[in-house]
Amino acid sequence: MQFEQGNNLPRVKVTNQSSILQMVYHCGPITRADIAKRLDLTLPTITTNINTMIAAGLVRELDSPEPADRRHGRRSRLLDIVPDARRFIGVEMTGSETAVCLTDYRGRVLDRRAAPAPSRDYEENLDAACSMVRELLDRNGGADGLGFCVPGLVDSETGVLKVRPSYNWYDKPILRDIGRRLDLQCPVTVENNACARAYGASLFQRELLNSAPTFAYLFIHAGIACPLILNTSSAFGSIVGAGEVGHMVMEPNGPQCTCGNHGCLEAISSDRAVIARCMDALARGGAPVLRSLCPVGEEPGMARILQAQRDGDADVCRVVERAVYTLGLAIANIDNFTCPHAMLIEGKLFRSEDNRRQLLEVVHHNVCNVKRTDTDFVFVEPDEFSGARGAAAVAIFHDLQSAAE
Ligand SMILES: [Zn+2]
Repeated sequence: MQFEQGNNLPRVKVTNQSSILQMVYHCGPITRADIAKRLDLTLPTITTNINTMIAAGLVRELDSPEPADRRHGRRSRLLDIVPDARRFIGVEMTGSETAVCLTDYRGRVLDRRAAPAPSRDYEENLDAACSMVRELLDRNGGADGLGFCVPGLVDSETGVLKVRPSYNWYDKPILRDIGRRLDLQCPVTVENNACARAYGASLFQRELLNSAPTFAYLFIHAGIACPLILNTSSAFGSIVGAGEVGHMVMEPNGPQCTCGNHGCLEAISSDRAVIARCMDALARGGAPVLRSLCPVGEEPGMARILQAQRDGDADVCRVVERAVYTLGLAIANIDNFTCPHAMLIEGKLFRSEDNRRQLLEVVHHNVCNVKRTDTDFVFVEPDEFSGARGAAAVAIFHDLQSAAE
């Protein structure tokens, strides 16, 4: 059993500093009086701490046009984080490609690099990722934190990738292995790549969430994951599980999954599954439109598959419809079970308006009638760097908990 640590004065001071900095970050621009009210601390405590943060260059006073309450004089001026006070490296290493970016506190990308993976080998992938990080650091100077994310089951406490079945990566101590390759002075975090995207949305894309206090992030790529974030407004988010929904069985007699079972969601609806089914159709001599778009011997990517769907290739349409329908059923089940206020959906299939519409029809048709969902479904444009930026968000999230010291 674990017990909370007791509090002594220095620890209270650090906790207060961290809470105040997080409040400025997540709710800024904000006045000292608002921070005091929301954290239930005295105004002098806020003022002392804020002065330290201003002196350290972490927080700044904005030139508010007119103080809201003149009796409080300068105290009613708005405070915000200094975006370029700190810089963070984010890395996403999927095994097929690696993306690295350098961001400021607000997730603005200052520099970036992406490259296809050298092989399917873990060590070679990590070598390549670390040399990309080194290159970015050499070009831009140091960083205050590094966030690293990978698909699969990750123990973020120990920084170990437990399982990545499709690549045969098991029990990879990523945190230790990065330490051996890079001489970094800053903290390093390791997270699942769908969870990292959820952190990214929580920190950098609050407008998408429309103040939703809880949300799920459905990420469809080679696999499928759907982590949940709770309490985005009060405690600034705690993540619940990695959301490995990809292996819920949707068709017991369906195609075999990389996990060994049959008919898992990701064996039908992931990019990898859609591409495999389309290649089956090509091998059978079908999918004529896709065939005309795709050079012989080359794997059709999602862009060509969506093009063939738009151009009415019946075989491709069947594959995509089944993928979207099955995802719709899965989302209805997730929604019945978890009831998030919002669900962000990122997947290349949903670059197509028709697929978005079909998905939402299936969801609304199958979600429990008693509950009548009021979940806000929001499609997120897939982006090569969204995982790397999300990994930087994880590093920022941890930095805010210790940065004020
Ligand atoms: Zn599976």
